Amino acid sequence: MTNTVIAADIGGTNLRAALVAVDGTLSQRRQVPTPKSATPDGIVQEIVGLLRAVVEAADETALGVCLAVPGLINGDAGTVVIAPNVPGFRNLNLTTPVSGALGIPCFIENDASAAALGEFRFGAGRGARNLVHATLGTGIGGGIVIEGRLYRGSKGLAGEIGHVVIDPTGPVCNCGSRGCLEAMVSGVAFAARAKRLISLERSPILKEMMGDRDPSSTDLFAAAQAGCQHAMAEIQNGGHLLGLALGGVSNVLNPDAITLSGGLLAMGEMLLEPMRKAMFSIAYGPASGTIVRLSTLGDDAGLLGAAAVCFERLGEESSSEVLKFW
Ligand SMILES: [Zn+2]
Repeated sequence: MTNTVIAADIGGTNLRAALVAVDGTLSQRRQVPTPKSATPDGIVQEIVGLLRAVVEAADETALGVCLAVPGLINGDAGTVVIAPNVPGFRNLNLTTPVSGALGIPCFIENDASAAALGEFRFGAGRGARNLVHATLGTGIGGGIVIEGRLYRGSKGLAGEIGHVVIDPTGPVCNCGSRGCLEAMVSGVAFAARAKRLISLERSPILKEMMGDRDPSSTDLFAAAQAGCQHAMAEIQNGGHLLGLALGGVSNVLNPDAITLSGGLLAMGEMLLEPMRKAMFSIAYGPASGTIVRLSTLGDDAGLLGAAAVCFERLGEESSSEVLKFW
């Protein structure tokens, strides 16, 4: 009896896959660039090829495979409804062709939800019973684990922390609303704030650093570190708003832990200190006991998240077999 699954992390930049043991040990890693102009069939073939390479290199037969996808997923139907960063991913069934090609059960999951279960099982969320995970990168994602199981919501949309409105007069978000957390505090939002500082001539440091280039969130942080008070204020205010959103989530769900991952964490205490302060300033009673922890999974978070979902789904299927005897 094997105790391994195949995990795949479908990203806008790379497709990654590996064999993952039940204790989170990864082996047989494979990675290819995400095809930029693929047809739906083309990208499915690319994914199948990548997964086959892992299967063929493995010494044992994996129990199942799970694909973590950055988009809106219908897990029961096995389809990606839409994944804006992956060409060809619109109303695309993935589980049928992958399962057919590999001969093992295939599942798909939203990448941030998978990351939440990955942190819960293998990372910073170990030991928690209830957990909220937020991914702080180019955009803002999130996932929720309740009583040890991934919570997907009625339509699979649970955990979209990025679309909590924190300023109804704020900038328009990708989702069409105004002032969502993602529109206010994300890699893209910080880059827009940096650009604004330059155009308003409030940051000579940033202007000199950038020349003709457009600034990124990393540039905003570099300017703050170089002494630009306006850049620092933008990041601190972002941390404050993030804390209000996470504090609200904490008041609703009362998790043991909130775990955080993503590129914005490179801003360190400049972002995190005002975030914690705001979060705890609005904490309602026992919610103030929520612990904030940073992800420990690094680049493997996507693969370990997919693996955690695969183990959970396989467990559900086997327990439903057991239920048939009752
Ligand atoms: Zn939004």
